[in-house]
Amino acid sequence: MIDPADSLRYLKGAGPARARLLERLELRTLGDLLEHYPRAYLDRTRLTPLGQLQPGGDYTAAGMVSSVAEHRSRGGRSSLHALLDDGTGRVECVWFNQPYLRERLRRGTRVLLSGRVEVFQTLRFVNPEFEVVAGPGGGEGAGAEAAEAAEAAETAEAAAFSAPGIVPVYPLTAGITQRVLRRLVRQALADCAPALAEFLPADILSRQRLPAWGSAVRGIHFPDSQEDCQEARRRIAFQELFDLQLLLACSRSVWERPQTARPLASAGRLLAALERGLPFRLTGAQHRAIARLREDLARDRPMHRLLEGDVGSGKTLVALAAALCAVEAGAQVAVMAPTEILAAQHAATFARHAEALGVRTALLTGGLSCARAREVREQVARGDVQILLGTQALIQETVAFASLGFVVIDEQHRFGVLQRARLLGKGSSPHALWMSATPIPRTLALTLFGDLDISLLDEKPPGRRPPRTHVVPRRRYAEMLDYIARELDAGGQSYFVCPAIEASETLDLRAAEELFARLQGDSPLCRFRGALLHGRLRAEEKSRAMEGFAQGETAFLVATTVVEVGMDVPNANLMVIEHPERYGLSQLHQLRGRVGRGRQPAHVFLIEPAAAGPEARARIEALVREEDGLRIAEEDLRQRGPGDFFGVRQSGLPPFKVADPVGRPELLEAARDEAFALVGREGVSGLRSTALWRRLMLRFGDSLDLYGIG
Ligand code: ADP
Ligand code: MG
Repeated sequence: MIDPADSLRYLKGAGPARARLLERLELRTLGDLLEHYPRAYLDRTRLTPLGQLQPGGDYTAAGMVSSVAEHRSRGGRSSLHALLDDGTGRVECVWFNQPYLRERLRRGTRVLLSGRVEVFQTLRFVNPEFEVVAGPGGGEGAGAEAAEAAEAAETAEAAAFSAPGIVPVYPLTAGITQRVLRRLVRQALADCAPALAEFLPADILSRQRLPAWGSAVRGIHFPDSQEDCQEARRRIAFQELFDLQLLLACSRSVWERPQTARPLASAGRLLAALERGLPFRLTGAQHRAIARLREDLARDRPMHRLLEGDVGSGKTLVALAAALCAVEAGAQVAVMAPTEILAAQHAATFARHAEALGVRTALLTGGLSCARAREVREQVARGDVQILLGTQALIQETVAFASLGFVVIDEQHRFGVLQRARLLGKGSSPHALWMSATPIPRTLALTLFGDLDISLLDEKPPGRRPPRTHVVPRRRYAEMLDYIARELDAGGQSYFVCPAIEASETLDLRAAEELFARLQGDSPLCRFRGALLHGRLRAEEKSRAMEGFAQGETAFLVATTVVEVGMDVPNANLMVIEHPERYGLSQLHQLRGRVGRGRQPAHVFLIEPAAAGPEARARIEALVREEDGLRIAEEDLRQRGPGDFFGVRQSGLPPFKVADPVGRPELLEAARDEAFALVGREGVSGLRSTALWRRLMLRFGDSLDLYGIG
């Protein structure tokens, strides 16, 4: 018997060479292999004669390739067209951008395929899943590729064990065929009993009508029927959601014992004064959110509220209003933001409004001189500073408050759970407002935070026009610069955003410097003043670059993604994004949200990537098409799963492979209820010796520390 954590190389039929290939699919252990779920199935039990296909339906069919042709569009996209014939009828099959399929789809090849049938002049399958049942009758040239030869050799064997049922179709890598993977998965299922043992309490299984783990794992790979397959997927989806909810439930019970908070009731004097001093009127959504926050603050239970709102919806002002209410009630307030630039910008905004009302604010970041930082800390400890703004510097041990009653965390998804908890720990169960400009779909908020209250700013300040988003081919770059130069002449301002390469700040920097030099050199922008802003600058250089741009002294700002979060320069109306393919969808939307904040029309130019995968293209298309941040966030979540969605800091959360918390929120809620109830019943200590706990350790590994339950 072998363990799920064992290396794949010891699996019969794998061996070191295949194990190396499988690593490209991130498959290292038996457990990994068993979690390499099929992305589709070919259902041989339900073959439809080609003569009976109807447009819009999903079908599995079989037939022989009677002709093949390859086309190439002017944009360089290729498509492979095969005509399939089964005696009852013919249908065209098209595969886009997969020219390598040509080797496998020769005339005379018999295939089994599955997919949706569309009408395009005639009926056709678009990008169907397929499998070669038998190669063309004899005459295979000597040029046949090794993989194909292997495939042909395995045909007979494969037919023996996979026909006539439902056959899984796996994501592949070069050198590994469907047949090899199917055989390895079968072997792993046979050898690895511990991976199939049940670990959920029986009452949860029966309440949720879920199949046993073993039959779910078998069923997702080799289902006996469509129903079997559905059941298996439902159990596995439930499990993915449940694991995460269990983690959160444990984390909560460790961090958040039942608490009473100091109620912060205010008469609204400062709030009214703030409103009188504003050059604009609050939106209805802002009014509603502020009213809720005032109610929450006045309670003796700590507030945990998430304020969601698309970029530019005016969250900062809501936070400021709530902070003033807390100050009026005699509490200190801490406002934490993820970058120095954003913290400095908030500090300026807060100072401008609050100081006029006699409320003292200060900024604390890692960039301050030691002497200044010490001075700020002393003022905070004495209670002389009522609102302290800053970066992670706020959670250093040396920072102590006289009476911290309210905490605001901006762009909260940029912080780890532990960082957030540390800031809360600076007060005695303070009220907390978390803000996110990446609007989090409600279901995901539930996924990640359990019982958080949510307020939504679903209304933008009046007069805003969303930026128009364009994809600019390289050859039209100069033309675009001409256009930008004309706009700058008319008083506009432009961002140029340079590529983000997580792994290398040095490369980021070089790209930004090169672009800056090019724009200042021989370009239509050479007569304008520009500035360069990147993460390597010292704090005062950063704030000088930012100030200059905010004041309109510089017409363009070349920046690495440090501008991504929060920057607010209403006069900036243009943005050029280099290498948009390197960003996630929400991140692109965030970037785009830096413009379109003023009254002049705004434009965002995405420089068309020379080479980008289909997913990157889909992201770019989605961005051009969609302007609503919430819908973008949902799409992003679908594409990437919660781990990536939350970026580096929150990572450690494995992506969902089967669960779809957006599309199937009821399963998420069931998983959440069960997980929280279980922890409520057993306590963290009661779970520690269970198989469920071992699973949690295995799945979340190091990140358990982050959740405070290692
Ligand atoms: P976000 O929600 O993305 O954090 P900000 O708080 O940065 O948005 O606000 C964006 C801009 O809108 C700021 O310049 C702010 O002064 C302005 N603003 C906020 N509320 C209103 C309003 N009610 N009317 C007009 N402008 C507003
Ligand atoms: Mg903001």
